[in-house]
Amino acid sequence: MKIDILTIFPNMFDCYLNESILKRAQKKKLVSFKIHDIRKFTKDKHKTADDKPYGGGPGMVMKVEPIYSTLSKIKKTKKTRVVLLSAKGKTFNQKTAKRLAKYNQLILICGRYEGVDERVAKHLTNEEISIGDYVLTGGELPAMVVADSVTRLIPDVLGKKESLAEESFVKEGYLEYPHYTRPEEFKKWKVPKVLTSGDHKKIDEWRKKESKKK
Ligand code: SAM
Repeated sequence: MKIDILTIFPNMFDCYLNESILKRAQKKKLVSFKIHDIRKFTKDKHKTADDKPYGGGPGMVMKVEPIYSTLSKIKKTKKTRVVLLSAKGKTFNQKTAKRLAKYNQLILICGRYEGVDERVAKHLTNEEISIGDYVLTGGELPAMVVADSVTRLIPDVLGKKESLAEESFVKEGYLEYPHYTRPEEFKKWKVPKVLTSGDHKKIDEWRKKESKKK
């Protein structure tokens, strides 16, 4: 899977995408991330990527041309999905992550300011995704959320240790059972007895029950 991200703040991705599981997935060549600086595709000396909104109103709007030019330079495949991160988009969930994980290329466009010229959503993207009903300052965090949740669904990205099988939303939409680790007691807060019983049948039953409860 290739994930291309369009942004005017490329440095924001350096840290998150190059740690832990995402770093390992890149090393194993299961995923590759490419960050594209939209400002590099502007034509004026000030590298202007935004402009005033037609019709007036507060704030600035990201221009369509630099996004179009950046997109044009990205090599696409038959299974490429172009996504605009937008508070107005369809709310992201695990089902969407699974669907997106089936593409072999994702292109994620990060907005800023008051948002992005509507022609980007209308003519250049396949879908708009929101990561929740709140407004962030930019699409960079949402792009990282989508990139992270999709990457961990790519076969072989997770080792046995982090297996997907038991995770929340996997089993008929149930949430995962609670986890505990050592010590067995902390400030008189005890680990449920069944988990230290060694009785795996009982542990399984308890976990199923807790998962349903959640
Ligand atoms: N004026 C816009 C509105 O009312 O919907 C909000 C613009 S927001 C300040 C700037 C950019 O952040 C958006 O273009 C989008 O890319 C991103 N963004 C903000 N909240 C988001 C969310 N919940 N999900 C996805 N992207 C979001």
